[in-house]
Amino acid sequence: MSSLQESIQKDQQDLLYHFREQFYFPFDQEGSLYYFCGNSLGLQPRRTQDYVLQELKDWSEFAVEGHTEALRPWVHYHEFLTEPMAQVVGALPHEVIVMNTLTVNLHLMMVSFYNPGKRRNKILIEYSAFPSDRYAIESQIRYHGLDPKETLIVLQPNQDNDYVSIENVSLTLEKYGEEIALVLIGSVNYYTGQAYSIPQITKLAHQYGCRIGFDLAHGAGNLLLNLHNDGPDFAVWCSYKYLNSGPGSLAGCFVHERHADNFDLPRFTGWWGHNKIDRFKMSAQLELMRGAEGWQLSNPPILPMACMLASLQMFSEAGMKNLRMKSLSLSRFLIQLLQSINHSKIKILTPINDEERGSQVSIQIQGGDKSIYTSLKHSRIIADWREPDVIRVAPVPLYNSFQDVFYLYDSLKSILEKNG
Ligand SMILES: *Cc1c(COP(=O)(O)O)cnc(C)c1O
Repeated sequence: MSSLQESIQKDQQDLLYHFREQFYFPFDQEGSLYYFCGNSLGLQPRRTQDYVLQELKDWSEFAVEGHTEALRPWVHYHEFLTEPMAQVVGALPHEVIVMNTLTVNLHLMMVSFYNPGKRRNKILIEYSAFPSDRYAIESQIRYHGLDPKETLIVLQPNQDNDYVSIENVSLTLEKYGEEIALVLIGSVNYYTGQAYSIPQITKLAHQYGCRIGFDLAHGAGNLLLNLHNDGPDFAVWCSYKYLNSGPGSLAGCFVHERHADNFDLPRFTGWWGHNKIDRFKMSAQLELMRGAEGWQLSNPPILPMACMLASLQMFSEAGMKNLRMKSLSLSRFLIQLLQSINHSKIKILTPINDEERGSQVSIQIQGGDKSIYTSLKHSRIIADWREPDVIRVAPVPLYNSFQDVFYLYDSLKSILEKNG
């Protein structure tokens, strides 16, 4: 069977195939484009507009009364998101809250979980951490009067493959563990696409008495997560990448149950963290809610929450287990096809082992320049370019097909052949 036939057969056997029709794809005169940027901005579900229009309608009809009279009353709108979001990340409902945006939540979590002492004051991060995370972390360090140069420890990659192995994490913790206050790791490295083992790293960090948090920007809605059982202290993630909730939409935050009643943790607070039963009595005395809800600051924006509700519903319908299975099958198919291109320029940066990758595949074009990416664009493929020589693609199980993956491979192959 040819690879094209194989892709057609895989699509026919795919039980999630029908979800693809429930999204808007960007298009040009020739039709829909091939979209592989779900790791950057997820596509718009067709039902999202209905959810947003409902809120605009309720606002026009009820105005202030919409807080209680809207079809989905605004005062507790975020609660509609809690259960489906908790399912996506494998948490208990009271461990999860949707609020703010990702970097804001990261700051709030560091306020609570980075409490540098005299001896234990360092933060351990992965190499090539996302810039925003790094800026946030360094500013927190300075906020405590410390110097990032001395306080930030960076996990180094293996020399031969750019990954951070669990042995590396273990050795680093053995060396610095007693000085590390907080370990902060992305679940999938945005550059290599390596997925770190949350249970293993969490266990190691806790063995050395460190607090540990994960940035799940590239993990939520992508990996099969089990935050409650794995037990990190906190996690944060955005919803506009794999969670298809629209540009700049709200973010998620997880605080493990063991901290649910710990009101002594330092934290920045606002009225939305106050006991919701009598929030509107406007008492001067703050009475924090238990669990993740107690970290809320503000009356949240309903329109992006409506986008999120529409999208999370699709995740509930599809199920994370099924999505993860299809995602692995898509990326495995892509990797196999790429490996069959006998071209010295191509190097797959992403781990071949299923457990060590998410939906993203990073392809390094050694000695190549951006022209290959531009040619892909001319072939109507939307991918992502990282200087100096990496193309990132994310076959997303909710809306990408095996035929999409075949088309990507086939186009890349002819471009490389033309370029010699
Ligand atoms: C996408 C991403 C961000 C973006 O942060 P925002 O606050 O949503 O702008 C931060 N960190 C990581 C790891 C990301 O992948």
